[in-house]
Amino acid sequence: MINLLIMGKPGAGKGTQSKKLLDHYQLFHISTGNIYREEIKKDSLIGQEAKKYLSEGNLVPDKMTNDIVKNVLRTERYPNGFMLDGYPRTDAQADALDDMLDELGIHLTAVINVEVKDEVLLHRMAGRRVCSNCGQTYHVDYHPSKVDGICDYCGHKLIQREDDLEESVMNRLNIYKEKTKPLLDHYERKGLLMVVDGEQTSDEVFNEIVKRLDE
Ligand code: ADP
Ligand code: ADP
Ligand code: ZN
Repeated sequence: MINLLIMGKPGAGKGTQSKKLLDHYQLFHISTGNIYREEIKKDSLIGQEAKKYLSEGNLVPDKMTNDIVKNVLRTERYPNGFMLDGYPRTDAQADALDDMLDELGIHLTAVINVEVKDEVLLHRMAGRRVCSNCGQTYHVDYHPSKVDGICDYCGHKLIQREDDLEESVMNRLNIYKEKTKPLLDHYERKGLLMVVDGEQTSDEVFNEIVKRLDE
């Protein structure tokens, strides 16, 4: 069983690498950002609450996020392991995750930190497009869809995430630095941290991660 956690600034490539790693190791994906975007699309109670935070680029309160992840970890089956993407993002979430894993008798295999400079991120987020239906991610320059504005997989329209617009982006970066970056020390102390250079092409980043995991 391979249980991975992927961390990095907004736009670092967490979602992109998660997708590749999932396919490669047949892992179960837990992306709190995707879960919230789905709930918002469904206009569920969780979605209505979460929307206020996502649209401004703020973090959804810990209690709500922890409850969601706890529920997923307890009820889903992931025989080959899981890939946690975008969680934990605060001290309280990291502590909650430690408790959940203890309770379930599960260990993390590695915590991958995808490192990218701020200047690069701004360009990545500005060019990010996502499928309005299946959530697949593209980039206008680096990972364009075959037909402009249309998803390769399901044919639906590509859109820009509301939180990828200028103001939210700076807010999300600041929140990352203040609340999420300190967690890297927590995982470094546990000997789990794997730092990768996220400024390579996405295939190069992926190959590096797999090579090091397989060692
Ligand atoms: P990115 O990929 O750009 O880092 P995500 O898709 O992971 O962004 O998250 C989008 C938004 O969803 C966040 O800005 C936040 O509002 C909310 N969110 C996602 N994960 C969490 C979390 N672990 N805790 C609180 N809010 C979260
Ligand atoms: P995150 O989940 O960390 O917010 P994404 O995986 O959504 O990041 O990537 C952000 C944007 O950058 C997307 O448009 C994606 O297609 C693009 N991207 C991801 N990895 C790379 C890379 N190594 N080089 C260039 N562009 C990338
Ligand atoms: Zn699609």
